[in-house]
Amino acid sequence: MTRVAIVGGGIGGLAAALFLGRRGHPVTLFERDGRRPGPDLDRDFFDWDRPGVPQAVQPHGLLAPVRTVLRAEVPDVYRAMLRMGARERNEFEWFDDPGPARPGDEDLVTIQTRRIVLEAALHDAVHRESGVEVRPGEPVEGLLIDGRGDIPQVTGVRSASGTHDADLVLDAGGRRSPVPRWLSGAGCRDAVVENHRVEIAYFCRWYRLRPDGPRDAGRVKAGSSSAFAVGGVFPSDNGIFAASLTVSTADPTRAALRDPAVFERVARTFPAIAAWLALGPEPVSGVLTMGGLHNRWSTPADADGPVVTGLVGVGDSVAYTNPTMGQGVAMALEAAQWVAQNARAASDPAAFTGAYHRWLSQTLRLRFDAQAVADRADAAQLRDPARVSTDPPTAAARERAALAACAFDDPLVMRARAKVRHLQLTADQAYSTEEVRARLAHWLDQHPDFAPRFDGPDRAEWESAMGRTENAVKQTEETDRTQRAIRPGH
Ligand SMILES: Cc1cc2nc3c(=O)[nH]c(=O)nc-3n(C[C@H](O)[C@H](O)[C@H](O)COP(=O)(O)OP(=O)(O)OC[C@H]3O[C@@H](n4cnc5c(N)ncnc54)[C@H](O)[C@@H]3O)c2cc1C
Repeated sequence: MTRVAIVGGGIGGLAAALFLGRRGHPVTLFERDGRRPGPDLDRDFFDWDRPGVPQAVQPHGLLAPVRTVLRAEVPDVYRAMLRMGARERNEFEWFDDPGPARPGDEDLVTIQTRRIVLEAALHDAVHRESGVEVRPGEPVEGLLIDGRGDIPQVTGVRSASGTHDADLVLDAGGRRSPVPRWLSGAGCRDAVVENHRVEIAYFCRWYRLRPDGPRDAGRVKAGSSSAFAVGGVFPSDNGIFAASLTVSTADPTRAALRDPAVFERVARTFPAIAAWLALGPEPVSGVLTMGGLHNRWSTPADADGPVVTGLVGVGDSVAYTNPTMGQGVAMALEAAQWVAQNARAASDPAAFTGAYHRWLSQTLRLRFDAQAVADRADAAQLRDPARVSTDPPTAAARERAALAACAFDDPLVMRARAKVRHLQLTADQAYSTEEVRARLAHWLDQHPDFAPRFDGPDRAEWESAMGRTENAVKQTEETDRTQRAIRPGH
């Protein structure tokens, strides 16, 4: 059996501890935060100050791989989530008649829940697992490193209670993990880190549906977009949903969205959100914001392979992505599953670490790259909406928009879209098949005048919902132009 020490008890660390513990590996899980979620989900979600996990209060959609991994590894945890109020939403529920099913359709399911439900269910199970020792409120303070070989080997961790030997150390410390700093401090070769700043800011507000009212807004798409902003709804557990607005960090109006009244007026100009706010929900939070995001790939490896053995990372500590594709939790759980399935091989630390890095580069790395490419396009559009509004769409942009529209009319195209969304296929793989091409051509024949259009507000509507007068708008634009001139390249 492999003795494992885990740095961080967030989603990746808890899942890895459980998957490993249930295979009989002795695990010690160190978590900086001393608090553990209990049965009062609202209190734990809204009132828990978590500077180490600032994204915890942001809406999360959990994609198909999350459900697949949980049901395979810890079906009791998955059942507990459903009992706590998480809901399943199959992509084909959009259609009254989805047509003949194909194998795999039943897996194209999003789990609709606040992430606290997943955390509470994982915590419960981990605390009941006899082979897992949880040390809440005990941060790891450093690594034990044996530097005698060609490649340094991590042999354990250090915390306030002393040193803890381990055959394998997992870095599950999230996007602010201290592990890379410790490795370079110990003289390891520099790992190759790829870091792209994401120029997008997120604003969300949580609402509770009236207990005597409908449970959802009916057949409404979850997102609406403008040239300069995206508005979306995240239906979650127990009648709670989030309305979310995404704008460029360069948008001069973004600060005003922190005001709940402004946020709500603006949010209503997006059909997806308007339909849910029309149900008369009660707001249960202020406006919660998050920016300063990156796409960061930071495995402890360089072109010559791992810079250290005996240590691998799972979750945001290795691949931290802007959440527009919502793949963070899926990537954390898939990595935790790989580690647990292969942990016996950790008795050969160099071979194990090498195999893990190869797996990462053949799987999660491709998704990371797809996110980085999508973000560059999104950021360019959000930053310079005028160009997008006035330039005629390219043939490729028209086809992309047509595929997105056609998917909501044709279950076959919806299947392709769902496989991309749920990380099973790349867009090229899903949309280039003969049957999808034929269905798209047919749809375009029926919609000869189709042109990509935004269903969200135009700029004048946005400004008006903000309550901004024409003069104020001009003034802000002037200030913004001056600031950009002062900070070239910004
Ligand atoms: C705005 C936003 C929205 C998102 N939306 C989605 C979504 O819709 N779907 C999705 O799948 N993902 C989403 N994500 C991503 C998702 O939240 C992360 O991918 C996920 O939390 C990663 O889990 P983790 O365990 O790696 O890190 P975390 O959950 O951040 O946990 C890290 C833990 O490590 C602990 N720690 C750190 N250092 C130490 C130490 N020295 N010793 C002990 N403990 C330590 C911290 O206290 C923390 O508990 C979103 C992210 C953001 C920013």
